[in-house]
Amino acid sequence: MRFDIITIFPGLLAGIFEHGVIKRAVAGGIVEVKAHDLRDFTHDRHRTVDDRPFGGGEGMVLKPEPIAAALESVGATPKDQRDPQRESVILLSAQGKKFTQGTARELARLERVILLCGRYEGVDERVNDLFADRELSIGDYVLSGGELGAAVIVDATMRLLPGVLGNEASSQFESFGLSNAEIAKTEGESSDDSLQPSGVAPSSSYGAGGLLDYPHYTRPVEFRGLTVPEILTGGDHLKISHWRREQALEKTRRNRPDLLQTAELSDRDREFLASLDEG
Ligand code: SAM
Repeated sequence: MRFDIITIFPGLLAGIFEHGVIKRAVAGGIVEVKAHDLRDFTHDRHRTVDDRPFGGGEGMVLKPEPIAAALESVGATPKDQRDPQRESVILLSAQGKKFTQGTARELARLERVILLCGRYEGVDERVNDLFADRELSIGDYVLSGGELGAAVIVDATMRLLPGVLGNEASSQFESFGLSNAEIAKTEGESSDDSLQPSGVAPSSSYGAGGLLDYPHYTRPVEFRGLTVPEILTGGDHLKISHWRREQALEKTRRNRPDLLQTAELSDRDREFLASLDEG
């Protein structure tokens, strides 16, 4: 999969892709990530990328011409000929639809993604109309530029690609993971048995199914007066699975109760949640 990021600050992104799983994925040829300097696509002596807004008001706006030239240079397919199953041009914007794990899963099915980073007051709206397939926001706050958003999208998407994480099941059984029904849908598409719904927890986890992940512990058993929950050191895997599920439910209820509306819940889960409500 290939990511191209168009920005006026390519240097901002330089180090981000040189660590951890992204670095390994790039070295292994699974993903290619390139940042392009928008100023390279200007034709004036000052390498001008912005101009004053029509209608007056604060700040400057990124001009459409350099962005059009940058897209052409990286070989983006014209919008009306683009195959949405293979390629997407994304405009980073606080006014966009919210980027979620679901969006990352959609993008991970594509062959290439091109990310346009705004700056100043934003980007001439015609860029959105003429070139972008999606306008995405990474959250309800305003950043000074789209670069961090682009890095978030690249990171969250590429770790879902086959071969990027050491254990394929990790990305299925984590916060915002797929429900068993959704995993079953991908059954035909995956040859990895560890991804199949079996009703049995994978070795390190318990399917999140739209919940947040459960809490994790490692050595030492005791740290500053807090001891690892005894159940985790007892060796009873069924009890551990149940405990983890309950912890995931409790944490989701505490931090993100909105997710309980759409999570896949069993009768046992509902009983447990009801017991929390009573307590
Ligand atoms: N005037 C814009 C508004 O109020 O929506 C904010 C512009 S912001 C200072 C400059 C650029 O940062 C945007 O064009 C966009 O590319 C990026 N940006 C800001 N907030 C973002 C967010 N939440 N998600 C993604 N990109 C964002």
